[in-house]
Amino acid sequence: MFNREDYISDSEWNRFLEFSKDLETPNVVINLKQIKYNFIKLRDSFPYAHIYYAVKSNPGEPVLKMLAELGSNFDIASRYELDKILALGVTGDRLSYGNTIKKARDIKYFYDNGVRMFATDSKDDLKAIAENAPGSRIYVRMLMENTQSADWPLSRKFGCHPDMAYDLLVMARDLGLTPYGVSFHVGSQQRDIGAWNDAIAKASYLFSSLEEEEGIRLSMINMGGGFPAHYIQPTNELETYASEITRYLHDDFGDEIPMIILEPGRSLVGDCGILTSEVILVSRKNNTALQRWVYQDSGKFNGLIETLDEAMKYPVISSKDGPGVKKGEVILAGPTCDSADIMYEDFKYKLPLSLKAGDKLYWLTTGAYTSTYASVEFNGFPPIKTYFM
Ligand SMILES: *Cc1c(COP(=O)(O)O)cnc(C)c1O
Repeated sequence: MFNREDYISDSEWNRFLEFSKDLETPNVVINLKQIKYNFIKLRDSFPYAHIYYAVKSNPGEPVLKMLAELGSNFDIASRYELDKILALGVTGDRLSYGNTIKKARDIKYFYDNGVRMFATDSKDDLKAIAENAPGSRIYVRMLMENTQSADWPLSRKFGCHPDMAYDLLVMARDLGLTPYGVSFHVGSQQRDIGAWNDAIAKASYLFSSLEEEEGIRLSMINMGGGFPAHYIQPTNELETYASEITRYLHDDFGDEIPMIILEPGRSLVGDCGILTSEVILVSRKNNTALQRWVYQDSGKFNGLIETLDEAMKYPVISSKDGPGVKKGEVILAGPTCDSADIMYEDFKYKLPLSLKAGDKLYWLTTGAYTSTYASVEFNGFPPIKTYFM
């Protein structure tokens, strides 16, 4: 199915095993060194872009602190994320309020703390920004329709049709704001690089029509996230994304491309986490069933919510894995009394036939959208703990 060696080197794997051997399960261990490596790689792949880390993907304080020191900016979605970032000494000029759904008093709170860049996709939100954050830079999020090739689509809920984006940018000017640019998100874990081509073409249309018809010169395109982490399904390398997307930009804008913002989440931190769980029970539903049910102490409610509809297929290995070990198909399930708490049933994972209670499972590529997506206390299980190495 996959090899551990394709995801993590022997030396990093051994370092992880040593670090995590006495930690209570379930837990997530984040490899900070690898996040740094990924950040530098992204920066080098898009040397012309400004990086705004999407805080929601992993808001661990050591992660934010390290990225702040590396010069990253931050995409913030709530006043709570804002407080966290400000506490690290990052100033408002390095932040954008990227959530299109916000309370008027929160807009004011961001403004009072020095934030001057705001996303929007509706008239009422834009009016609230004009009232509470006068003169700020506005970018309008465009609706993306073809996000099916993304494993975790962020479509429908966010953005507006380009015609409406046009109207909003005109309205922004008329309200005394600065019409600054457009944004889009092509869907998280987007495996079709062509999705950026369509989005950039739409942006280019808005740039030229607003300039010709309204004399509004936009400056910026916020291309959101969507770059991949390494799950089971193959993706192109980041370098391929970068060269293709750069080509699309030049095709549409010639030599003078606008200011480009990237908001990576998953691609920076996804590969940098390993979730460890403990097998609680291995059972069969009848005496001759070939498939085993493997119940273990992590599940949909404490870290693995992105297995909804089996969307994210994490590489899973066990402490019984090794050369020549015989394996069979399993259904992987969590510990709670909710029948939705099943991670994989259609997609056939194979685990050692000798697997039993007390053995460990290692879920690779769990650095993004795991621990913070966990419930507080469903069935009394505490939230999953995160450690940083
Ligand atoms: C979640 C989010 C991102 C991060 O997306 P990834 O696919 O994880 O890189 C970026 N921008 C916005 C506005 C988001 O909501």
